[in-house]
Amino acid sequence: MKILQTINHYPTQIKEQVKKLIETEKLTAYLLNRYPARHDIISEKALYDYVQNYKKRYIKQSSVISKVNYDAKLQLVKHALGTHSYVSRVQGNKLKAKQEIRIATLFKKAPLPMLDMIVVHELAHLKEKDHNKAFYKLCCYMLPDYHQLELDTRLFLINNELNGNLYE
Ligand SMILES: [Zn+2]
Repeated sequence: MKILQTINHYPTQIKEQVKKLIETEKLTAYLLNRYPARHDIISEKALYDYVQNYKKRYIKQSSVISKVNYDAKLQLVKHALGTHSYVSRVQGNKLKAKQEIRIATLFKKAPLPMLDMIVVHELAHLKEKDHNKAFYKLCCYMLPDYHQLELDTRLFLINNELNGNLYE
């Protein structure tokens, strides 16, 4: 299944389970059962505050985040394995003093835990550029459920493509 390429690097067992959910048309139900409600962090201001609170709590001594926004132009690179290739990007300016976090507009209508996962992922990139051990350790420190949420976010994107947004 071409659509499964986004979870290609997961164990076979997991891929088989997901394939079965898709084939039996139960993926939407699976996701809705786990994530019955969407978050209400809709405005750019609300998103900015939300990210700043996370940052204040967990990674005080890092660069300043100057801007946080939803970005409709952010293209989802469907078949890339890297998470931030489809969710968002941290970009440093010339002085490396300020950072911007962009989150694909698609995640406006998503469950809060998935927004958390994306925010945590991008904040961890302020400290670690690569997806290495230290990076994931930091993600799990901020969000103990991180790995499950990353998988579920990928399933959310697959479902989005197959059946449209979960909450519409
Ligand atoms: Zn990343």
